[in-house]
Amino acid sequence: TSDRNHPPQLSAQPSSGQSARGRMDVRYSVIVPVYNEAEVLMVTHARLKAVMETLGEAYELIFVNDGSLDGSRELLERLIQDEPNVKVLNFSRNFGHQIAISAGMEYACGDAVIVIDADLQDPPELIIEMIARWRQGYEVVYAKRLVRRGETWFKRWSALLFYRALRWMTDVDIPVDVGDFRLIDRKVCDVMNSLREKSRFVRGMVAWAGFRQTGVEYVREPRYAGETKYPLKRMLRLSADAMTSFSEKPLKFAMYMGSLLTLASAAFILIALGMVLLTNHAGSGMLLFGGICVFFNSLVLVAIGILGQYVARVHDEARDRPLYILDDRLGFEQPVDGRG
Ligand code: UDP
Ligand code: MG
Repeated sequence: TSDRNHPPQLSAQPSSGQSARGRMDVRYSVIVPVYNEAEVLMVTHARLKAVMETLGEAYELIFVNDGSLDGSRELLERLIQDEPNVKVLNFSRNFGHQIAISAGMEYACGDAVIVIDADLQDPPELIIEMIARWRQGYEVVYAKRLVRRGETWFKRWSALLFYRALRWMTDVDIPVDVGDFRLIDRKVCDVMNSLREKSRFVRGMVAWAGFRQTGVEYVREPRYAGETKYPLKRMLRLSADAMTSFSEKPLKFAMYMGSLLTLASAAFILIALGMVLLTNHAGSGMLLFGGICVFFNSLVLVAIGILGQYVARVHDEARDRPLYILDDRLGFEQPVDGRG
């Protein structure tokens, strides 16, 4: 008997705490977002399992299949046959990394919830250290990257810049060089699930939630196999989400620049007018004037662009569509179903 017979769930919110939290005895939930990771999936599972087994407490591995097209889904469906601790959420299409994590958090029922990438860039063995910290009373234990191995210089530099710019711009204390590899306490997980915003920058949201937070350090290994699912376009999208969700500085910047340049251009017009009236060098003035016009126009476009970023997200919230659509979910306990 499997959950496939149950109707697909169309809502982003599993009705508060019943279907999602079927099993109350789970101590640790591990969430693994998966997008076209067929090449690594089995190795990832084996390593995660090895680590979790050493803990000697009940755990679940929730694989969130974010619309993979490469056979990851079939692999997971096979895996679930022999692995009682594995659970799978299948999205109807690709919704994105941050949303996959968010979905996992909704279905996780552990006292501690761990988020880890599927590509083994985050070493599963570090989970032991995270749990030790959690036992000391920290509600959030994030993993801080000391070194990034096997990534292009572009990726390293863009990441370096991104984390620093974000830190400078936001009022929330988002730690630098920290990805989504982390452990959060049940309390924090519940807070995440109560935040219904659509453009989700999970690490910012966790930082925003507060509680006692600490970090453990690690070396980020190269991808085990396959290639990054974060091309430039997605990286830009993630940073735009981060900035607009946690900072109003871009808006203020546009406003200040706008007012400053309005004053400057007003002065410029007076000067140009004086030149036209008092001297006979009108031709050279025109050239300069043309250049300045283009400059101002482009600034206005920048300001409108920044505004648009925010408006688009307001629009997103206003439509209030579900965060994701599930095709099916496997391995989650149903009241009458004896699985697990
Ligand atoms: N991922 C996902 N949906 C996406 C893109 C990525 O679930 O749309 C997953 C991916 O399978 C991996 C994690 O998010 O487990 C991080 O992606 P990736 O390793 O490609 O990012 P990078 O490490 O290069 O920043
Ligand atoms: Mg990766």
